[in-house]
Amino acid sequence: MNAAPNSSPPESASMAPYAVRGRWLAGIALAAAIVASAVGWIHPVIALPVIAILGTLIAVGYRVTAANGVAARTQALSVDSANAAAPAAAIVQAIPEAALLVDGQNRLVAGNVAAAALFGRLRTGEAISLTTRNPQILEALAKAASGETQNFEIEERVPVERSLDAHVAPIVFGHERPNLFLLVFRDRTQERRIEKMRVDFVANASHELRTPLASLSGFIDTLQGPAKDDPAAREKFLGIMGDQARRMARLIDDLMSLSRIELSLHLQPQTAIDLTGVADTACDLLAPLAKEQGVTIDIKKETARLDVRGDRDELLRVAENLIENALKYGASGKRVEVTLREEGDDALLSVRDFGPGIAPEHLPRLTERFYRVDVERSRTQGGTGLGLALVKHILARHRGRLTIESVPGEGAVFTARIPRAH
Ligand code: ADP
Repeated sequence: MNAAPNSSPPESASMAPYAVRGRWLAGIALAAAIVASAVGWIHPVIALPVIAILGTLIAVGYRVTAANGVAARTQALSVDSANAAAPAAAIVQAIPEAALLVDGQNRLVAGNVAAAALFGRLRTGEAISLTTRNPQILEALAKAASGETQNFEIEERVPVERSLDAHVAPIVFGHERPNLFLLVFRDRTQERRIEKMRVDFVANASHELRTPLASLSGFIDTLQGPAKDDPAAREKFLGIMGDQARRMARLIDDLMSLSRIELSLHLQPQTAIDLTGVADTACDLLAPLAKEQGVTIDIKKETARLDVRGDRDELLRVAENLIENALKYGASGKRVEVTLREEGDDALLSVRDFGPGIAPEHLPRLTERFYRVDVERSRTQGGTGLGLALVKHILARHRGRLTIESVPGEGAVFTARIPRAH
């Protein structure tokens, strides 16, 4: 096998044994010259220049050998550093997290694509402070110069909110002090956002349940105390208590449906379902509410059948939620239109009302859990604030989506779009 050029010993290192052997011979000759001159075997006039020449040879030889040693070491180090830079840069590219390589003078040696996405343009060869001005990173680099790895968290508010886990590791190549530093950043923004959503969700759900519960226990106290012997009050309070208990049951039902749909989000239902039949059923189920609200429902079908791959109960839930909202929040328009049609490869179910509509700032947030334009209005209508979140999740499971359009004062149109079954 051929040895790689870098693997052969440096020339000065291979010459070293000869230099050592020469020094020994010169030393023995010098000692012999001194002894010979002392015992009178050779004349001091000859012995003295011989001793001087041999002494000079030894001294020069030593210095040459020493200088060669230093040169060999220096070469070895520069070979290490030069060799290290290229593979290190390649390794940095292969790291899945954002990573930067910085040298002992705080200059950027390399950075990967993820780091460029995080910090913008990477200026290799220039001071790291041109890539990031974050004082925590610069401080960690200074501390890591002592050889200790630094771990810390970065929370940034501007220009965008983000959370990073940062890790600065010193790398030593032959030197006593680190001559390279590897900086790795793990973007935790999404994780923190999900965690915050989870905490907010638990807080909201508890709050939503606590309100009717507090009202229930308040009425129980009243019925056991001041209203004990008042049949009229008892009748009235029991009615309210029934409403509160139903509200809690609805909330728990919606929460359970939401978690069940979330669990099966990746499983697209496969049964062929006719969306026009689903819309008819929803209208029939909501006919009493429409009557109560004084609203007429017009159903328009552009095709006799509209087949999608789906779960009938879930699609019925979508149609019911959209029509019920139109009846509750758009009642002032006195009319609700339900339209079924095809558009390209999609089946569309649109529910239009002619009520007050929705201001544009609310539109992107309507499908968030517990988001309501008017909390009191929703509660008095028996809303849980989870209806549109459920609709959005069901449609996602059906590989469809919900669009909402509204002109304040003219009403709103909610459209469920689902791929047609062929
Ligand atoms: P809720 O249980 O409160 O009805 P939803 O998730 O179904 O919860 O709806 C969220 C909010 O969206 C409602 O509280 C209401 O403010 C608003 N909204 C929904 N549909 C309409 C509509 N057709 N017209 C006006 N506002 C609507």
